[in-house]
Amino acid sequence: MTTTIAAYAAPAAKAPLERTTIERRAVGEHDVLIDIAFVGICHSDIHQVREGWGTAIFPMVPGHEITGTVAEVGSRVTTYQVGDRVGVGCMVDSCRACENCKAGLEQYCTGGGPVWTYNAVGRDGLPTYGGYAQQVVVDRDFVVRIPDALPLDVAAPLLCAGITTYSPLRHWHTGPGTKVAVIGLGGLGHMGVQLAHALGAEVTVLSQSLRKQDDGLRLGADHYRATSDPATFADLAGSFDLILNTVSAPLDFAAYLSLLRTDGTLVNLGLPEDPVQLTLQSLNGNRRSLSTSGIGGIAETQEMLDFCAARGVAAEIELIRADQINDAYERVLAGDVRYRFVIDPATI
Ligand code: NAP
Ligand code: ZN
Ligand code: ZN
Repeated sequence: MTTTIAAYAAPAAKAPLERTTIERRAVGEHDVLIDIAFVGICHSDIHQVREGWGTAIFPMVPGHEITGTVAEVGSRVTTYQVGDRVGVGCMVDSCRACENCKAGLEQYCTGGGPVWTYNAVGRDGLPTYGGYAQQVVVDRDFVVRIPDALPLDVAAPLLCAGITTYSPLRHWHTGPGTKVAVIGLGGLGHMGVQLAHALGAEVTVLSQSLRKQDDGLRLGADHYRATSDPATFADLAGSFDLILNTVSAPLDFAAYLSLLRTDGTLVNLGLPEDPVQLTLQSLNGNRRSLSTSGIGGIAETQEMLDFCAARGVAAEIELIRADQINDAYERVLAGDVRYRFVIDPATI
């Protein structure tokens, strides 16, 4: 038997989100029922509500930065108990049998792809609904544990913004002696700066202006430069081992690639709605690489949460009521967020 849950949904593409109810599946033997305590607003929610990435499924309940407590567990669940502090990120299922799933890279599942937390169809054929809701039912293998040292509100954005920046920093061996630049000081960017700093790198923020410089330096950046100033590109040419691009809009990739040292890599994380132009000559000097990275696997997400708890890293948030979601979307689009909106689902 399904359960009726209060949620906030976009009824159609580009439509304002409004209060509604959705049906959650009955708790299966491998499932965990979570009372959602907090859910972050990721820019990906906005891209999808606006159908900026292509045709989407409506009504859409966005939300893939979920924290809460376990309310019920299925008969075969031994890893979680009622009352445990848990989180759910961008995925709620995958094939578990392909090479990538077996390697802990469920986000790159080749057996039909992972099932995204919302705007997707589950293996039961039903649409998935995300975390702008009071409860969610998730397979135990896609639930992670929130360490006691991390408050649930500031932990929520770690489930997407945190893991999306942690995974490439680790994959490209960030540590003492590594020079990292983070383009864009938004939700992803402010996590990337903190994590790169905690891993021991020398960190530079490349932001459109110096408006958020004090915050960037407080979050752990060693340098903060405005990309509106042409001197930035002249001064920093050939400087970085690794650049994380977190910008939600198309960029001049040639300009940013020129900032890489020999063998340096620009990892693109931002997923703009419009195509970008790339001149291949911009990769040619100094054996530069352009790569991408998508969120992170479940085990790596747990590793990231444990790292954040040990190092005192968490998101900076502005807590909002559900009826402020539409305004919050406009503020994200206007760049007016420091640095993640987090919804209190009790207000739905
Ligand atoms: P966000 O909070 O809106 O931050 C994006 C930042 O980009 C802004 O704060 C701004 O920083 C900069 N920016 C925005 N518009 C710009 C423009 N026109 N030109 C230059 N800079 C601009 O967004 P987010 O939640 O961090 O997400 C960022 C992007 O990553 C989105 O496209 C999202 O869909 C994508 N994403 C990807 C993954 C993945 O797995 N790869 C995961 C999550 C999100 P400044 O003001 O400092 O310039
Ligand atoms: Zn996200
Ligand atoms: Zn798979």
